[in-house]
Amino acid sequence: MPRKPLLIAHCRQLLTLRGSRPEASGPRRGRALGELGLIRDGAVLIAGGRIEAIGPTRRVERHRLARRAEKVNARDYIVLPGFVDSHSHLIFPASRAGEYEQRIAGVSYEEIARRGGGILSTVRSLRRATGSQLAPQARRWLAQFAAHGTTTLECKSGYGLDLKSEIKILEVIRRLSREGPVELVATFLGAHVVPPEYKRRPDRYVELLIRRMIPTVASRNLAEFCDVFCDRGAFTPAQARLILTSARVCGMDPRLHAEQLARTGGARLAAELHAVSADHLELISRADIKRLAASPTICTLLPGAVFHLGKSTYAPARALIEAGAAVALATDFNPGTSPTVSMPMILSLACTQMRMSPAEAIVAATLNGAHALRRAERLGSLEAGKQADLAAFALCDYREIPYYFGTNLCRWTLKRGRVIYDADGQIPR
Ligand SMILES: [Zn+2]
Repeated sequence: MPRKPLLIAHCRQLLTLRGSRPEASGPRRGRALGELGLIRDGAVLIAGGRIEAIGPTRRVERHRLARRAEKVNARDYIVLPGFVDSHSHLIFPASRAGEYEQRIAGVSYEEIARRGGGILSTVRSLRRATGSQLAPQARRWLAQFAAHGTTTLECKSGYGLDLKSEIKILEVIRRLSREGPVELVATFLGAHVVPPEYKRRPDRYVELLIRRMIPTVASRNLAEFCDVFCDRGAFTPAQARLILTSARVCGMDPRLHAEQLARTGGARLAAELHAVSADHLELISRADIKRLAASPTICTLLPGAVFHLGKSTYAPARALIEAGAAVALATDFNPGTSPTVSMPMILSLACTQMRMSPAEAIVAATLNGAHALRRAERLGSLEAGKQADLAAFALCDYREIPYYFGTNLCRWTLKRGRVIYDADGQIPR
């Protein structure tokens, strides 16, 4: 039996993200980044998993489907699009809390990596784990993502670094995406670091990626995107160019980790290749900012990693926005540098540490995140025809989402119009 339509009415503030130029279809840049399309006492009418109508409650209530809809009174809630978190490393076997303690004691992230810790310690234990051992923990984290308002999550491989283990990760991602509750988007990150067995001949590993791993992953349709960690201690821009060019030939669009630990030229390469996104960017130069602003590449900022590493140099969000770059925000959820599922916490960091306005941070974490995953025609804003992915916070004002930090105030989350989290038991199932 088809489900009844659902009417979420009387939202205290409904953030539709409708911009002043609704015909514009690209990611939000400059002043448009802060356009929330806020409606007070707003309503969303949902049918068949999609938004049927949206606007002021008194208008939406007159819609022909509204009369037989199940109704939710959202008087005490701020309602916005579910977060689209466009950068995570969801599948890992265990935390690295021991290294966290070493870092606090003064050992650097790169020193830990040189001693065989860091990414490679996760690789060692992941290679030993089976898919059925990896899935339950990821499933628990996905429930937490949903509880913090996230409805779509990008997931990278990259802790396997051999064909069998990388495929194992990507198959877990595929399985969890089919299961729900959160929609997953897979990225192949075989070029995370050079695996120990290729330590002395990194170019042979690049060759393996290009000749064997990328074509196999692409032919099995296991990933939409290909990412490279282009940084000191990982891959050079020349290697990244080879890898991403061959990925593109195989049908996987490029993205890049760039300029996090050192400025090596990754941002410039991303702009040149028209990569879908360039992520991190803490150490970019003025020239990089110009290049990125003039490119279609989305600048995905990951302040959680800066915070967790105890560093103080955040990506220059203001300069990027003012230059006209398209900025997105993501958690970078991973066991080494950013163990958080909380987009609201990322918004707090974006506002207080990078001086983004609360409105800019919200658009960067929803609509621009959807652009960074090539899903903006379906996700990231609340418009008639789009998928009904919503998050609701028990607050009086949207600015309180970043303002209250360290506590989760998300109360319910809908994916395709269905409840995936409901702390108040308010939404009909
Ligand atoms: Zn990352």
